[in-house]
Amino acid sequence: MRITGQNSGRYSGLRVIREALGGHRGWKPAWRDPEPKPAYDIIVVGGGGHGLATAHYLASQFGVTSVAVIEKGWIGGGNVGRNTTIIRSNYLLDGNEPFYEMSLKLWEGLEQDLNYNAMVSQRGILNLIHSDAQRDAYRRRGNAMMLNGADAELLNAEQVRAECPFLNFDNNRFPIKGGLAQRRGGTVRHDAVAWGYARAADSRGVDIIQNCEVTGFRIQKGKCLGVETSKGFIAAKKVGVAVAGNSGKVMAKAGMRLPIESHVLQAFVSEGLKPIIPGVITFGAGHFYISQSDKGGLVFGGDIDGYNSYAQRGNLPTVEDVCEGGMALMPMIGRARLLRMWGGVMDMSMDGSPIIDRTDIDGLYFNGGWCYGGFKATPGSGWCFAHLMATDTTHKTATQLRFDRFQRGYMIDEKGSGAQPNLH
Ligand SMILES: Cc1cc2nc3c(=O)[nH]c(=O)nc-3n(C[C@H](O)[C@H](O)[C@H](O)COP(=O)(O)OP(=O)(O)OC[C@H]3O[C@@H](n4cnc5c(N)ncnc54)[C@H](O)[C@@H]3O)c2cc1C
Repeated sequence: MRITGQNSGRYSGLRVIREALGGHRGWKPAWRDPEPKPAYDIIVVGGGGHGLATAHYLASQFGVTSVAVIEKGWIGGGNVGRNTTIIRSNYLLDGNEPFYEMSLKLWEGLEQDLNYNAMVSQRGILNLIHSDAQRDAYRRRGNAMMLNGADAELLNAEQVRAECPFLNFDNNRFPIKGGLAQRRGGTVRHDAVAWGYARAADSRGVDIIQNCEVTGFRIQKGKCLGVETSKGFIAAKKVGVAVAGNSGKVMAKAGMRLPIESHVLQAFVSEGLKPIIPGVITFGAGHFYISQSDKGGLVFGGDIDGYNSYAQRGNLPTVEDVCEGGMALMPMIGRARLLRMWGGVMDMSMDGSPIIDRTDIDGLYFNGGWCYGGFKATPGSGWCFAHLMATDTTHKTATQLRFDRFQRGYMIDEKGSGAQPNLH
């Protein structure tokens, strides 16, 4: 991997002092607001984390700068700015673990690469163990992680108690018997990731076109010639789609039916509290995960809403379910006041794992199926999608993330760490 850090210096401490003395009149918008050109080499549909990362790596790693990112809303308005900010690479299966570990390594160098403070915080992630069978499963998962170059540490109950004394250890139904820790996991400020990638891509000549909806694809004799948009037709040699929760709707415009369903996932933030939660904690006996933001808010979430939807808001039964999980794990949470909550639309594939692949239509590529695990994948996904479109070959860590696995029966049905479509 070649990380270049080409924007060095634009946000230096010296610059901040100089601008403060000058009344902050010298700052320029972080990215331009261009009108679309008639044609590009590559169009990326969707200005979320994955689309912007793809554009950045196309320009910085593969030298392709005739690139437009077409976004129907605004940068950061989709799931990239709605998630619970957790990054990790604690998967079990071959198709997933090398990919997510590659992505975690990219997170570790991201701020230098973009010269942007994305608040990458490797405060660790702890998956709690509640039964002997679960300990066996987590030991196996930890070993798989280490075989792929990731870090993993199996903790007993006393070690967990020393780090998180506030957990409900002696709960009769769900006693805490230990945990699987990944110290390099953690959190990243989600919308800063979109802004950082947007700024870096723009500085290399990528056009980021907001408020422009892709309404169709111009396809002739099996080849994609460009996209129809609310600002007119834009031609491209290649088109890559990375629209997350809208994957099914957008690819239907190219006549494709995907093995993907859309669901809503909600996130919750409490009032600001003194530091209490050291890293990310996940409940192993229910679906609940929590961390604490630098501002002090408890950031948490749980299951997706139990039906298909394109609405970016959730419903009360899931709120109750998530809060029950929180209360079972750490009863003290019942004293915190909930400040805000929101929903995002998830693209769940039928084995819960993502897809990065070309389609049967020449020049049309697809990236999706990330469901509620795609934030941590942002750098790896962008890199692999850029690799695919620039070289027309699959990156070695993404070889199993292709459409044909559904045809061949080689599913990557990762249980307990990713989305589980059979449960919803
Ligand atoms: C509540 C919640 C919590 C989550 N928590 C985590 C977590 O802790 N860790 C983790 O790894 N993942 C998490 N995720 C999942 C993660 O956020 C997503 O998988 C990931 O962000 C999806 O990729 P993206 O950033 O490119 O998507 P988005 O930001 O949604 O980008 C897609 C973009 O495509 C645009 N678009 C759609 N249709 C069109 C069109 N026709 N024309 C042009 N543009 C279009 C949309 O406007 C959108 O901006 C969570 C998601 C949610 C909702």
